[in-house]
Amino acid sequence: MNDSKENMAKKKEHGANVDLIGNKCYRCEHEWLPYDKDVMPRVCPKCKSPYWDRPKVRFNKKGKKNE
Ligand SMILES: [Zn+2]
Repeated sequence: MNDSKENMAKKKEHGANVDLIGNKCYRCEHEWLPYDKDVMPRVCPKCKSPYWDRPKVRFNKKGKKNE
């Protein structure tokens, strides 16, 4: 698929700080721009996950990290 490769290379570069202020959800990969870049959204606007800004971490049933 040549199309997907081209899309990967082309970034949105319109306006100021475009690459700096966007948010991307770790869970559903939804990307959006916050209304105020100084305020972190509590949840992803799409999947409503409060952990959208953190990588997935596996926990076992006791709540400890799996090694
Ligand atoms: Zn999400």
